[in-house]
Amino acid sequence: MKRPVAVTAGLAILLAVAFTGYFTGRSSRQPLPATESSGTAAPQRVYTCSMHPQVRLAQPGNCPICEMPLIPAGGAPSAGDDVPALTLSEQALAMASVETTPVAYREMSRALRAVGKVAYHEPSLATITARVDGYAERLFVNVTGVDVQAGDHLVEIYSPDLLVAQQELLIALRGGTNSPLVASARIKLRNLGLTTGQIEELATSQTPAERVTLQTPSAGTVIEKTIVENSAFKAGDVLYRIANLEQVWVYLEIYEFDLAWVRDGQAVEITTEAYPGRLFTGTVAFVEPVLNERTRTVRVP
Ligand SMILES: [Zn+2]
Repeated sequence: MKRPVAVTAGLAILLAVAFTGYFTGRSSRQPLPATESSGTAAPQRVYTCSMHPQVRLAQPGNCPICEMPLIPAGGAPSAGDDVPALTLSEQALAMASVETTPVAYREMSRALRAVGKVAYHEPSLATITARVDGYAERLFVNVTGVDVQAGDHLVEIYSPDLLVAQQELLIALRGGTNSPLVASARIKLRNLGLTTGQIEELATSQTPAERVTLQTPSAGTVIEKTIVENSAFKAGDVLYRIANLEQVWVYLEIYEFDLAWVRDGQAVEITTEAYPGRLFTGTVAFVEPVLNERTRTVRVP
C-alpha cells in the first residue's frame, strides 16, 4: 500500500469525499486525491488518530486531542485513479459500526398489509345450462358445496325434444353411416347437450334413451343449484353453477402509498388471519387503472 504524502489536503477534502462510498478496510480516514501524490518525493509515513483525522503527524505517539495511540495513515489511490476514496481502519470501522456488502442484483420484497376479498377464479366458472325443455327426474348432485369431477353425472332428465332428436339420428343411420343426414343429426344432438360418448352409445345400441344424464364439463365445486327433483325446466335455464376453488382470486385493496410496490405479473405470497401459518402463493393478475376515490385504494386481483 502506498503511503500518503498529501498531508495538507485538510478537512475540506475530507468532507467532500466522505460519502463517496469506498471502504477499503485499512488505515485511517484519509482523502487522497490522486493528483497530489504525483510529483512529490518518496512517500513518508504519516500517523493519524482514528477519531480525529485532522491530526496528521510525522511520528507515532498519542493523539493531542484524545490521547488515543496514533495509527499509520495510508490508502493512497492507485496511479491514474481519480476517484476520491474514504478509508477506515478496522478499529474505526467497528466503532462506526459500518457494514458493507457487495453490490448485486437481488430480489426485493416487502410486506404489505391490505384488506381484500377472496373471489372465484373467473375463468374457471362454469354454468350448466339446459339446452332443451324437459324435466329433472333424478338429481345425482343434490346439494350445493359438493366437489365434482369432469364427466360426473349431475341430473337425469326426460326431454321429449331430445327423444325426437335421437330418433332422427337412428332414422338417418338407416340411410348409411356416411349420409349427410347422419352428420347433421349428430351435430344436433351435440348441440342439445349430449356428449360424443352418449351419441356413439346411441348409434351402437340403436335404441333412443328415454332419460338422458347430463354430465359436468369441468371439475370444481357446485356453488349454486337451481334445479330441484321432478321440476320442469326450459331451454336456457341455469341448472348448476360450478367453480374451481383450487385456484381463487384475491381482490386486494392496495393503498396509494403502497402502489409503488405492486406490478403486473409480480409473484406474491399471501398470509391470512383465517389460516395462520399457511402461505399462499400467486401472481398479480392486473392492477386496476382507476383509484377508488372514497377509499384511496386500487383493486389488485
Ligand atoms: Zn484523537
